[in-house]
Amino acid sequence: MSLSAEIKQWQAKLAQLMDEGDQLLARAEALERQNAVLQDRLAERKDEGGLAPLKRLYDEGFHICPAHFAEGRDEDCLFCLSFLHNEGSVPHKGE
Ligand SMILES: [Zn+2]
Repeated sequence: MSLSAEIKQWQAKLAQLMDEGDQLLARAEALERQNAVLQDRLAERKDEGGLAPLKRLYDEGFHICPAHFAEGRDEDCLFCLSFLHNEGSVPHKGE
């Protein structure tokens, strides 16, 4: 292969890598934005009190469902999730 052909090949490769870099950057920026939104929501929840501590407990790998409360969990638990979901959408009595 001639040197110029080799250089062209490298340039093509480099352009491809830069494309991929751009895509990764866009993805990272999207994730950062999403993360910021989630952080905001979590902060709002914290101000409201309510489920934030339970949500955090769940995120840290513990059950918050009545049946297995505070037991370690390896995977998502449907009971925990529905508990979070239902409690989250139903206003607490007396608050
Ligand atoms: Zn559970």
